[in-house]
Amino acid sequence: MGQIRHRQNLRHRNRGIHPQRQTIRGNIAALVGLSLALLTIPAAIAQDTSAPTAAGFDKDTAWQYLLKQCDYGPRVPGTKAHDDCGKYLQTELAKYCDEVHLQHLTHLWTYNNQTLQMDNIIGTQNWKDAKVRIVLLAHWDSRPFASQETDPIKQKMPILGADDGASGVAVLIELAKALHDQKLPIGVEYLLDDGEDLGPNMDQMLLGVDYYAKNLPDPKPQYGILLDMIGNKGVRVPIESNSYVASEDFIRKFYAFAQKVGLEATFPNKFGDDIEDDHLPLIAAGIPTIDLIDFNYPYWHTLQDTPDKCSADSLGNVGTMLYKWILQTPPYEVPMSDRVPRTISIGN
Ligand SMILES: [Zn+2]
Repeated sequence: MGQIRHRQNLRHRNRGIHPQRQTIRGNIAALVGLSLALLTIPAAIAQDTSAPTAAGFDKDTAWQYLLKQCDYGPRVPGTKAHDDCGKYLQTELAKYCDEVHLQHLTHLWTYNNQTLQMDNIIGTQNWKDAKVRIVLLAHWDSRPFASQETDPIKQKMPILGADDGASGVAVLIELAKALHDQKLPIGVEYLLDDGEDLGPNMDQMLLGVDYYAKNLPDPKPQYGILLDMIGNKGVRVPIESNSYVASEDFIRKFYAFAQKVGLEATFPNKFGDDIEDDHLPLIAAGIPTIDLIDFNYPYWHTLQDTPDKCSADSLGNVGTMLYKWILQTPPYEVPMSDRVPRTISIGN
């Protein structure tokens, strides 16, 4: 469609992250748009990683996972498509994880006074024995409203969510498959969360991850990586500002690593928008989480968010980055000083 998005209309636009501890220098707005001389990569980082030699992440299989989810139609909570797709994802994840379980939540949806049944689908690899544990997450629901359409009738229709939903989940399932026979240096939890995009407003979004953040596994993850809207053609994932606030060290090392493994075109070392997304409840709970998102997507929350706007190459680049990041030895650890609860306001 190519419509111009007005930033003040974006529901993700965030003005309200307030670290309890004054570890952040400067304010977020001042950081956005910097060319980031400050993120110049220290030489030492480039030596503490080793690239894996295995076949690795298969972009074509990931692409099939994206198509399959879209074949169910919009995965809106309370619909058969949602429930059927959830069963499919649980079955797929169980093939490659040590264990899979559901985290069930209900929500009284004020939009229609219906009580919705939702499930976070959670699988783990090497969780018990690991010294470092991370959570990888993506939302598997899709939005009930194409709220960025201009036609009022279309605005009430659900979106397919090829990029906004299916892309991140597709990468995580293929990642679980690619890693399941590897000797993992860390424990990995795959969190396919529900109710991220319900709405219509922020007070009824991020529902699944909010529940997870209040009911964390024991032991809990040290840090997180969120995938959302990473399937669009020619994907570019700049630095998201709230992620940077949560752990500057993590962001620096992650983008340095992307450069080291030749993926700096996909992960450009510059700031993008600040985004309200599933990472915020985790950051609030003391789990620094990076939001990998390409918000430069004109089909966001429209009926045009369909597979033809996405590509296997994009899934492949993002998946390969995570595959190599997870297998690096020694594993990355977030500084203790960043693992602190923070007060975050969402939707203001
Ligand atoms: Zn969305």
